[in-house]
Amino acid sequence: MTTLEHTVYTIRRGWCSSRTFLFVGAFAAVMLKGGFDDLAESTAHKALQLALFGLWAVIFGLKARRRFNGTLRPSESSRADLELGLLLVVATHAVVEISGGLQSPVYPLVFVLVAFLVVYTPQWVGFVLVGVTIGIELLLSFFGQANAPVVNVVINCIFITFFALINLVFTKTEVARMRRRAKRQIMLERETLVNEARDFRLTAPASSQVGALSREEEELRVSRSAVTEVRRSLYYHVDLLKRTMQLHSCVLLWRDVGKQTLRILECVSDSNCIANQPIDAGDGAPGAVLRRKTPLGMKNIRQGYSGLSYYDGRPRVTDFLGVPVDEAGALRGVLCVDRLDNQPFDDHDKETLLTSVKSILRAMSNERVFTQLQKAKSEQGKVLAASNVLTQALTEKDVVKAALDASAYIATFDIAAMTMIDERGRQQVVEARGSGAEALKGVSFGKHTGLVGSALKTKHFLPYRGEFDPRQQVIFTKKMQRPFLGMQSALVLPLISNDEPLGALVLAAESPSVFGEEVRTTLQVMTNQLATVLLNARMVRKLEMMATTDGLTSLANHRIFQEELDKKLASANRFQKELSIILCDVDKFKGVNDKYGHPVGDTVLVGVAQTLKRNVVRDTDLPARYGGEEFVVLCEGTSTDGAVKLAERIRQDLEKQVFHTDQGELSVTISMGVATFPTHARKKEDLVERADAALYCAKEGGRNQVRVWSKLK
Ligand code: GH3
Ligand code: MG
Ligand code: MG
Repeated sequence: MTTLEHTVYTIRRGWCSSRTFLFVGAFAAVMLKGGFDDLAESTAHKALQLALFGLWAVIFGLKARRRFNGTLRPSESSRADLELGLLLVVATHAVVEISGGLQSPVYPLVFVLVAFLVVYTPQWVGFVLVGVTIGIELLLSFFGQANAPVVNVVINCIFITFFALINLVFTKTEVARMRRRAKRQIMLERETLVNEARDFRLTAPASSQVGALSREEEELRVSRSAVTEVRRSLYYHVDLLKRTMQLHSCVLLWRDVGKQTLRILECVSDSNCIANQPIDAGDGAPGAVLRRKTPLGMKNIRQGYSGLSYYDGRPRVTDFLGVPVDEAGALRGVLCVDRLDNQPFDDHDKETLLTSVKSILRAMSNERVFTQLQKAKSEQGKVLAASNVLTQALTEKDVVKAALDASAYIATFDIAAMTMIDERGRQQVVEARGSGAEALKGVSFGKHTGLVGSALKTKHFLPYRGEFDPRQQVIFTKKMQRPFLGMQSALVLPLISNDEPLGALVLAAESPSVFGEEVRTTLQVMTNQLATVLLNARMVRKLEMMATTDGLTSLANHRIFQEELDKKLASANRFQKELSIILCDVDKFKGVNDKYGHPVGDTVLVGVAQTLKRNVVRDTDLPARYGGEEFVVLCEGTSTDGAVKLAERIRQDLEKQVFHTDQGELSVTISMGVATFPTHARKKEDLVERADAALYCAKEGGRNQVRVWSKLK
């Protein structure tokens, strides 16, 4: 794009985006100059007014079409609102001016306009437009052609502000009220659905239905589809009966759970006075059917009979037949049918109704079984998902993380933590998630304290039903209670494997009754598996330890030394760094064994190992048991001098030590040989061999000393 093109483009863009504002400004200027005064007499003046209004109408039309064709982005639509609002403000003022200014009979249009603008434009646009209106008002009064009294102008401005504000407040309140009402309506519908599900025995009763929110949602979803199915089936039956038996009404009345009332569950009728509120379960003909638990027919019913309680008025019904809805001895409701014009019901009709009732009950029962299956399937799915997460974890650390992830598949909670019992028999929080709970990570406490302690002792989850009162019950210790203060539900699940307590899983939630029966059972299944997985991970760790450490001294074993030497030599080679090894051999150790016995010899070896560990402080250095009473220290990035210094430190430390035995006190010394890569050897075998040669020299030289290979020659 050339500079010229760019300039043209910028000017065009500026013109496009500001032309409405320019027009509004010009329009207002004309108005201020008296262009719309009612006194305008000359033809030229009139022509100008007409031209301005014509142009106004075109611009307004174009803007309005663009604004309301639904293609604007939110930011663009606010701007379009502002433009349209400004156009309306100047035009209204022009009309007011033409018709007599402040005294104009149409002046209240300004108030109406302001009220309209603040309600139907975004808040900031509304405020700008009110400001502009007041501005024009003031300008017209002080600089316009007809001077108005100051008091009137001020009063007008106050009115404008007042109208704007009062409308804003009213609208906001009304919107809030409507929102609240809609929300209440939704809640009510949801409640009705849950109740119906319960009435049809699709879900468990309220007490055991409680669970985490997500579960509730899920249950609601299953119930919703089940209720829809049952409703469809009911309608189908009732409608079919109505049509095939030439009925006036066919009504299925249902007993409200826990109440002495009957509700119309389904109804197909030619009458328009069917009762729309629950009726008394003891009233009239349906009440009689319920009491007698047998079908009841009536014919020649007199006009004005009030016993057909499912009608609000007095229908002209002449014949009635009602059969009880009996589900395995439990009375659920009454199926009522009636006719006009004396067409009595016979035994065949009764049979038809009884068969229909059976079919209706079967449909409900089918849905119930289906719902139960759905639930079982979903529960199974959760256990499976949790189990998958658990079995993939191999190390203890992974298991802990997986335990919390797996719990999230089963329950909804705000805090999750896991404790493990350490070698000293204390519990330690190894993982904690949730607000404020992270601080508990790493904290250890007595094995028997709090709900955790009790749960481990009783080997059963606590508290009873997962209901938690943080003022009465302590999860870990009082000091560690803070994160749990806002919780109303909690569950502490002990991890037991082979009767051995390993730790506990703790879940807590702010909402009450989160850990319902199903959640608890599923969590228990999960924790059983968790305990086994945890034990396995521990065994794997022990096996790994055994494979890599020396049983007597707990130092790295010979295999690990060789592997590490390979790795570190390769690295030293690559990065051009030195690497030294110190080969150590306890002096005259055979003598120690002979004099004090093998067990004392072992104790001395442990002492030597501890001396090595104590002196080898760098993370990159590795002390290891080379074999028998020989040890080795691998020193990465260490020169011969450095290694000699370390060796000397070890030698002197050991020399000072006294081992107490039954046969008296005993001291040992150690001889050491040092060799360094690449100074003394480049190949691994050579390096070890030269360190060994240096060690031999130390022995030859009188023991209890450090020798370096290169100095031998
Ligand atoms: P030198 O100063 O020449 O090293 O004399 P030394 O007696 O230490 O000789 P040598 O290295 O040949 O003897 C090693 C002895 O260490 C032989 C063995 O009885 C003893 N030994 C090796 N491993 C163990 C062990 O695990 N426990 C005990 N108690 N003794 C061990
Ligand atoms: Mg030896
Ligand atoms: Mg020895």
